[in-house]
Parts: sequence; C-alpha cells; structure tokens
Amino acid sequence: MNLFDARTAFFITGLLYFLMPLVVWQALREQKSDAVKLWCAGGELFGAGLLLISLRGQIPDWVSFELASLFMHLGNTQRIQALRKELGTPMSAPVFAATAAVFWLGYVIARTLVPDGPYHFVWSLLAVGVQCIWISLLAQRIRRNEHIQSAKWLGIAYLPLALVMLVRAIQVLMGSADPGPLVNEYMPLAIALMGVLSSVLGNTGFLGVYVERASRQQIQHAQELARREENARLGRQITRLDRQRAMGMISASLAHELRQPLAGIGLNAECAEQIIRQDHAPASATAPFIAAILHNMRNATDIMNRIQGFIQAKPVEHQRTSLQTVCTNVNHLMGDWLRSEHMALQMQLPPTPLNVQGDPVQLAQILVNLIRNSGQATAGQSSRRITLTLEQQGPQALLHVQDNGPGFDAGALQNNANAFYTTKTDGLGVGLSISRSIAEQHQGSLSLRNAPEGGAIVTLALPLLSL
Ligand code: ADP
Repeated sequence: MNLFDARTAFFITGLLYFLMPLVVWQALREQKSDAVKLWCAGGELFGAGLLLISLRGQIPDWVSFELASLFMHLGNTQRIQALRKELGTPMSAPVFAATAAVFWLGYVIARTLVPDGPYHFVWSLLAVGVQCIWISLLAQRIRRNEHIQSAKWLGIAYLPLALVMLVRAIQVLMGSADPGPLVNEYMPLAIALMGVLSSVLGNTGFLGVYVERASRQQIQHAQELARREENARLGRQITRLDRQRAMGMISASLAHELRQPLAGIGLNAECAEQIIRQDHAPASATAPFIAAILHNMRNATDIMNRIQGFIQAKPVEHQRTSLQTVCTNVNHLMGDWLRSEHMALQMQLPPTPLNVQGDPVQLAQILVNLIRNSGQATAGQSSRRITLTLEQQGPQALLHVQDNGPGFDAGALQNNANAFYTTKTDGLGVGLSISRSIAEQHQGSLSLRNAPEGGAIVTLALPLLSL
C-alpha cells in the first residue's frame, strides 16, 4: 500500500475515526450520558463505514457500498442526535429514524437506478457535507448557550470537510473529476486529510465540552461552598451581636437577682458568726445558717449559669428541651427589665410538658427578641401587656407572643421577618430574621400577624418530640 494512495488514506482516516471515539468513551467513562453514548457509537459506525469503503474490491460490493453507506449516515445522524440531546432538543425516535433513512435511501435508490452513474457517490458527498454542517451549527449553539470554547472547535472541525465534500460533488457533477472515493486524485486525498482533521479536532472538542463543564461545575461548587461558609460565619457573628444587644437588657436582671441570694448569704453568715462567738453555744446551732448559706449560694450559681449560658456563643447543641422550662427561664432572665419597664409578662403554660429537640439557649434568644420588640412597641402606653402562650396543636408546639401595642405596620408584615427591615431609629432589623432562622434550624417556623383586637402576635411553631 502506497501511503499516498486514496485507499490507504481512507483506511487511515477510518481507523482514526474508529479509535478517537474509544478515547472519548474511555475519558468520559464516569459520565456515560445518552449524548456520550450516541456520540461515541456514531463515531464508531462512521469509522467502520470508512474502513469498509477502503476495502472496496476485496469484500462483497453490498458490504463496501450499501452497508458502508448505512454505517456512515446512521453514524453521523447519531452524532447529530448526541449534540441535540446536549442542547435539550433531541429528535423524536421516528424523526431520527426518518432522517437516517432519507440519507441512506437516497444513496441506495441512486445506486439501484443508475449503478454505474456518479449519482449515488454525489448523493453521499452531499449528505455527509450536510451532516457536517449540521453538526457544526449544533456545536455553535452549544458554544453560544453555555459559552464553552471547546464547542467552538467542535463546530469548526467539520466545516473544511463539508467544504471539500461539496467541491468534490460539484467537480464530479460537472464531469471534471472521476466519481468514487478511492480514485487517486488530489481531492479524495484532501477529503481523507480533512477527515483526519475533523476526527481529531471534533472528538477532542466534544471531550473538551465535558471537561469545561466539569471544571466549571467544580468552580461553581467551590464558590457555593465558600458563599455558604461566609453566610454561616456572618450569621454566627450577627447572632452573637444580637445576643450581646439583648444582654444590655438582661444585665439589670443579673444585678437584681444576685442581690437577693448574696444578701441572704451575708445575713446567714453573720448569724453563724454570732453563734460561734458565744462561749457555750453548740456548733450544731450554726447548721441551719450554713444550710441557708449553701442554698443561697446554689441559687446565685444557678442565676450566673443561666446568664453565662445565654452570653456564650456555644455551638448549637440540640437536646431534649422542655418549652415550659425555656419560658420560665426567659421570664427569670427578663424579670427585672420587665419590672423596670412596668410591664407584666403573663404566661399561659399547659400542665403537660411540651418537649422539642433543640438548643434551649437559642430558643430563649427567640423569646428574648420577641419580648424586647413587644416592650419597644408598647413603650409610652399607660397599660403594657405581653402574653406568652404555649399550646399543642397536633404534632407541633405553638408559642405565641402577643402584646397590646399598635401591631405590625404593613411593611413589617410584608417583609415577613426578613433581615434589615426596621422602623426604629436605633434598630438593626435583624431580630426577627435571626429568630426565624433559629426557628428554621429547629425545623420550625415563625409567623407574624396582628390580633383583631389590636397588637402584634408572633407565633413560633416547633415540631414536638413524642413523649
Ligand atoms: P429591630 O427591632 O432592630 O427593628 P426586628 O427584626 O426585631 O428588628 O424588627 C423589625 C421590625 O418589625 C421593627 O422595626 C418593627 O417595625 C416591627 N416589629 C417587630 N416586633 C413588633 C411588635 N411587637 N409590634 C409592632 N411592630 C413590631
């Protein structure tokens, strides 16, 4: 075989067409989408068709003519379908079958009617030329839709082949060149050369589409991760700041509540000291005072722990939490602030314990935020009431914080506890949104409405733990 004869060139091109899809198949073995399967199988068929043509004269005619032509046209139609699938506009099965059939039957009919004429050959040239242009246009659409550079090369790869096919078809039709793929002329060699080019560039381009997509997805994934981490970090920071803000109000309680047990400790210690100083007093006489000192000390420690637990930004610890206990703790924490504001917090707690899976400190933070808002909303009113009602509704616990203030304005209701809506001059507009995000972290929700008799109602709904 002479390297420069058309048969050899066809054989080499066919071999390459056959091998390149195997490389793509191997490289994309993780993907194996319908488009990849169609593209690779189509390439194999087209390559097989070229190999059969190169063996013309050495194998039966129907194999190197009709079967080879079927392989080529079906293969290219499959590759067209692969790109259409990539674009999300695949041909329906009947349209696909009809398209491949038209390409092939044109060839068969022309060869049957005029076996020695140039028409089946010209038909084949034109059909493959049209298929190449079709592939090229589809690739350009992929490039435009997804801005993938490799799709551009995939599109360019098939244009020179289409061009030489069309030129050769015209030459044969005009009688200036002999028909047939294996004649030793300049153009058949050019076709084989362009075939090599399109096979290498086209398959590399197709592979590149997937590689670009995968790396883009990786970048997007990394960006998404970074964004989520940043959001979580900011969220933690805002929650901590908000808790510190609430602390301003709670610190008054600290002083007030500690005053009582400390005074008790002092009083009982003085009594015990007097007894010790008496000459004949038995040591056991000091026992009740020492017990009272220990009791007061435990009280003081409890208070400090409660407040310390509220201040510290600990990682969220979900545990079985009694909502009654959360309400009572918040009442204690805010007791002095409420008194100083001349407000009464009425609590309506059911006797049956309502337990949820959650972080008691965070749940307390929601109530502190809501009570603080109610306090601010009712400021300046002669009578200020806040009601905290806990009830069970099916599998949920509902905690309503209601006040007798002016109620939410339209903007607040519309904003629906999203961040940065505030009507206060010193407001941050984050309290409700933090409360809502804590509720959501507990698989619950927070809803706002106005009571028909006036005043705001915020309802925290949380999924109950079974008993
Ligand atoms: P901030 O308290 O910093 O404004 P919030 O997110 O806690 O932030 O509240 C947002 C807005 O919702 C408030 O500025 C106010 O207009 C409205 N709001 C919240 N609670 C009440 C309430 N109990 N009564 C009336 N309006 C309220």
